[in-house]
Amino acid sequence: MPKRPFTAQHRPGAAPSQPRGNRRGAERYDVVIVGAGAAGLMCAAEAGKRGRRVLILEHADRVGKKILISGGGRCNFTNRWAVPEDYQSGNPYFCISAMTRYTPQDFIDLVEKHRIPYHEKTLGQLFCNGSSQEIVRLLMTECERAEVTIRLGCEVTEIKQNGGQNNRFSIETSLATVTANSLVMATGGQSIPQMGATRFTHEVAEKFGLKVTPGQPGLVPFTFKGPDLEFCRELSGLSIPCVASCNGVRFEENLLFTRRGISGPAILQVSSYWNDGEPVRVDLLPGFDLASHLKEQRLARPKAELATVLSSLLPRNFVRAMCETPMGGTALNNQPINRLPDNALDSIAAALKAWTITPSGTE
Ligand SMILES: Cc1cc2nc3c(=O)[nH]c(=O)nc-3n(C[C@H](O)[C@H](O)[C@H](O)COP(=O)(O)OP(=O)(O)OC[C@H]3O[C@@H](n4cnc5c(N)ncnc54)[C@H](O)[C@@H]3O)c2cc1C
Repeated sequence: MPKRPFTAQHRPGAAPSQPRGNRRGAERYDVVIVGAGAAGLMCAAEAGKRGRRVLILEHADRVGKKILISGGGRCNFTNRWAVPEDYQSGNPYFCISAMTRYTPQDFIDLVEKHRIPYHEKTLGQLFCNGSSQEIVRLLMTECERAEVTIRLGCEVTEIKQNGGQNNRFSIETSLATVTANSLVMATGGQSIPQMGATRFTHEVAEKFGLKVTPGQPGLVPFTFKGPDLEFCRELSGLSIPCVASCNGVRFEENLLFTRRGISGPAILQVSSYWNDGEPVRVDLLPGFDLASHLKEQRLARPKAELATVLSSLLPRNFVRAMCETPMGGTALNNQPINRLPDNALDSIAAALKAWTITPSGTE
């Protein structure tokens, strides 16, 4: 990881400001933010606009790495209809106060101010027409205008609380020591550690005696092993509308097969409610009475093979794979449909309406 000399301010565009020194020679800021993801950059820009001297410390070699992969590379930057109840939180009042003060429309206004073209997909989801890079650029421009200083490749090695009203925090980094009146920990969730996610914020909170609720990765793709993984790889890139459910919650959206397992909006959302070893149920034909349809087809075209009938409802490759080397259960019995009695058609319908798969983990 490249390390920058501490005196070389990595501050986009602007001439470096002179940080104030304190008696022990440490640089002094009003606010130090650890983590230059979406939250850290947004917080920095807002604090900077309020006249605070802000420093962001980021251990990766660039800002907003997770934003770049968000929304399949087009960043689903907000949802028109997002409300506090949509968020999981041990403290629901936090979401109410945060979303009352900053609404989805506020962010839409910001996107429009930066002339970023966007479009609405299903259910109020807004995506960039171009790429997620535009959202990173927006946040960097806002930080630049608010004269925020950003240090990349900077490891935080120790955080101490000082007594008194000023310089309440002393932050030792791989580059130097800084002090701040306010410290914001914005190191993100635990998902996708290869993108820089750590438990660092939890460790700091525990050290300062704050109550920490055990967390787990959320909004993450599921991974599989063995034959199930082969099944996913074979279908990699294929997307199917579905309802995915787990532990009493359900999400109607797309499922996407990947090289490592399954992803897509329905899966990412349900992953936040999943615990290790639990199965996930997927209705591959939501709102459709498959058992009745198969029985009607048996009368209408008795010689048609089951796979042919199903391929008019689901992607052909998926149906073929489910007949040959199925994932999460027994193979669909592919033969002329008139040879399949009612109970066989009922089981086939159940296998696709309540397709049950057990991930081996998350990304
Ligand atoms: C596959 C996927 C797709 C997603 N798509 C979307 C989407 O389209 N729209 C959406 O709103 N959300 C999406 N999300 C959720 C998305 O991750 C969050 O909305 C957003 O990234 C959270 O931002 P953050 O700043 O809290 O955390 P992060 O983006 O994780 O940023 C945390 C930052 O802190 C840094 N950091 C960590 N530890 C340290 C340390 N010790 N010292 C210094 N720096 C540190 C990290 O390198 C990182 O830069 C998606 C998530 C995944 C996994």
